[in-house]
This record gives sequence, structure tokens and C-alpha cells, in this order.
Amino acid sequence: MTASPRHDALVPDPQPTFDSVDLHALAARLGTPLYAYSANAIRQRIGELQRALHGLDATICYAVKANSNRAILELMAAAGLGADIVSAGELQRALASGIPAHRIVFSGVGKTDVEIDAALAAGIARFNVESLDELHAIERVAAARHVVANAAVRINPDVDALTHAKISTGRAENKFGVSIAEARRWFAERRQLANVRLDGLHVHIGSQILELEPFRLALNRVASFWRELVHAGHPIASIDVGGGLGVRYRAGHDEPIAAADFAGVVRAALAGFHGHLLLEPGRYLVAEAGVLLTRVLRIKEGTERSFLVLDAAMNDLQRPSLYDAWHDIVPVSPEPRPLATYDVVGPVCETGDTFARARVLPACEPGDLLAIQGTGAYGASMASTYNSRPLAAEVLLDDGRYAVIRRRQTLEEMVAGEQSAQDWATP
Ligand SMILES: *Cc1c(COP(=O)(O)O)cnc(C)c1O
Repeated sequence: MTASPRHDALVPDPQPTFDSVDLHALAARLGTPLYAYSANAIRQRIGELQRALHGLDATICYAVKANSNRAILELMAAAGLGADIVSAGELQRALASGIPAHRIVFSGVGKTDVEIDAALAAGIARFNVESLDELHAIERVAAARHVVANAAVRINPDVDALTHAKISTGRAENKFGVSIAEARRWFAERRQLANVRLDGLHVHIGSQILELEPFRLALNRVASFWRELVHAGHPIASIDVGGGLGVRYRAGHDEPIAAADFAGVVRAALAGFHGHLLLEPGRYLVAEAGVLLTRVLRIKEGTERSFLVLDAAMNDLQRPSLYDAWHDIVPVSPEPRPLATYDVVGPVCETGDTFARARVLPACEPGDLLAIQGTGAYGASMASTYNSRPLAAEVLLDDGRYAVIRRRQTLEEMVAGEQSAQDWATP
């Protein structure tokens, strides 16, 4: 071997197969950019979390926004998971994929009356309520339907999740949830609500959390509030501990929390709680189960740096431009090459269309196939058609087999909703 140890540490191993599927053959057949997800990797994560929660009365409500493809939701449904939704669209996807309404919780700061009504009609388990105004909206919509909505108050525990500012949600300055002081008033006044049963607590402090301490802090605050409420005569039927478990985006760098350790913190903080426990993991279940396959279009030698131009772009995978996120990028071919340093970019007309800066990779040639790893969460679900680039195809892998779970969007489909300004009207 000629590579120095330093370079061994910098350059992750090539990935010729995924879930026993040959990625070269797959890309040759289906084209690129192409999202490929491993069913076995997802099942493994589900299993780890389920084992960690053994003995607890807990429901895992998969955060649909992480990857909302129907085949992924069907995997979750088959494993007995529920869903955490944030829109009527996600409600429809979850129900259509076989996730029963009684395992669906509805989060988000801007639920419309129409969405609240659709969720009540479906009979979802619970609303995670983010403001007093929303509580009143649920009361009003539920009264019109002559039903009683189950609700949890989303607590903003004012805890620093020690993650990227744009995915931190549990600080007082964030738009999410209400303070414990405000939640206390809700419970004191809740008898005025005839059509809302307010008997749950919810907390979700952010995403890609790699430390146990923020979880411990937030859950301890929620737990002491729960004890206070019970003493004040407000029984609590459910506590939702949110999602946020981090994953390994960068080999040898990110050290994710083990499911068992996370469950240990939940067990310790909520010892003595005999109600129903809810969890809302998204990224943890699917991120590392996905790769974005992309081909090198060309290598551009700039005056100061070499640019590796891929056929995937920020419209396919937004995380690097949106969050400065790191994704390991590896060659699919194991063929040894000397190392080179590239800025890895897409073809979109934005400087932000950059997947990595000064990344050390085996030297590339046009046509080479690369795998952008850790893209099973917040990849395809955040994709757009910016620069009029059709949505990429998605494929599910399972033990050497594959199934297309989203065919590549055609140019016709991309513009299908548009029309000329002909049928003028006044509102
Ligand atoms: C996004 C979100 C989640 C999932 O977050 P992950 O970091 O993907 O686990 C869970 N709960 C709520 C309320 C969310 O907004």
C-alpha cells in the first residue's frame, strides 16, 4: 500500500455494493442522479430502537418529512411504526401507506383549520400543539365536528441541542413550542376547553444531536413539569420525547448516540411515568440507509482549485448548501487511483451548489460513478426542480434486488401544472 495513514483517514472506503446490489449495474440501468435506499439498513435501525425500548409502553412515530416516499412509509408501517406528520400531505401519505391513524401525531407551528379538520376526520392519535392560538383553533374545529381532540403541549425547554443553528428548535428564541410557564397556564385553564383533551407533553429540541446531555437536560425539565402537573391534579397520559438522534455523516468524525443509551436517558428521566411514551425519530432511521448515486460530468481545472462537476446538484440534495452539511463522498469503483483534491459541485447556477470543498478523493475521470453517502434523510424529500431539473429517481434495495419507488420525473411531468395566462379573471 502506498497511501499514507493520513490519507487512509481522509478517504473513506469505496462502495461497490449496497444491500448486496451492484451499484455500477444499478446506475447503468436506471441512470443518475439516483437515490438508493437499503431496506435492510432501515429495518436494522428500527430493530435497534425497538430493542432499546423493550418493556416500555412506547410507539415510534417516524418523522415523515425525513423521507416521505410511500415505499419507505410502507416499511415503517410493516414494522408497526406510527408517523409524526407536519401537513395534510404527510397525513395522506401516511394513511395511504398503511400507517393507522391511531399511531399518527401531528406537529408543526402552522396547522391550518383545513389540516386540523382532516386530521380529526382521520382520527389521529394526538396534536402536538405549538401555541395558544393553535389550541383555540383545534377547539373550534373539533367543536364543529362534535369530537374531542387529544392534545399535547409542545414544551420549549430552552436547551441548546449543540447542533447546527438551522436545525436547533429547543431554544427560547426558536419559533417552536411554548415555555413551561405558559404551558402551566394552559393546564390551569384547560377546563374551558370542551373539545380538547389536553393530557400530553411533547418536546423536540432539534436534529442531528450527537450528545446525550441536551436530551437529558430537556427530558429532566419535562419530567419535573410532568410531576408538578400530576400533583396539581392534571393527569398526563402521554409524553412525546421527539426525535433528533444524530447519525454518522462523516466516518471517523461523527460519533452517534447508541439507541440503548438514548433509551437509558429516557428511562431515567421518566422513571415512574406509567403513561404512553412516543418517539419521533426521522434521520436516525433512514439517513445512513441512503446513497445518492451521481456521475462525474467533467473536471474543471480552475486557477486556484480543481472542480469536480457532478450530474447531481443542490436541487437533488440541499443539505450541503442549506446547512453546510458534510456528506462522505466515495467512489463506487474499488479500482485504486492516486489521490486528488477537489471542490465537488453540481451544474446549478449558484455558488452554493457545492457538495464539498477541498475534498480528497481518488482521482476522477468523466463518467466515474460516485456515492454521496448518508442521504436517505432530508435528501429526496427536500428536492426541488430548480434550474428545471426533473426530480431524481429513487430505488429501494433489498438483499440483491431493487425496486423503483419513484421513477425519474419526465420533463412533461415537471411542467404539467403550468399554463399560459389566458383565462383571466378578477377575484
Ligand atoms: C423534524 C422533526 C422530527 C424528526 O427529527 P429528526 O432529527 O429527523 O429525528 C421529530 N419531531 C418533530 C416535531 C420534528 O419537527
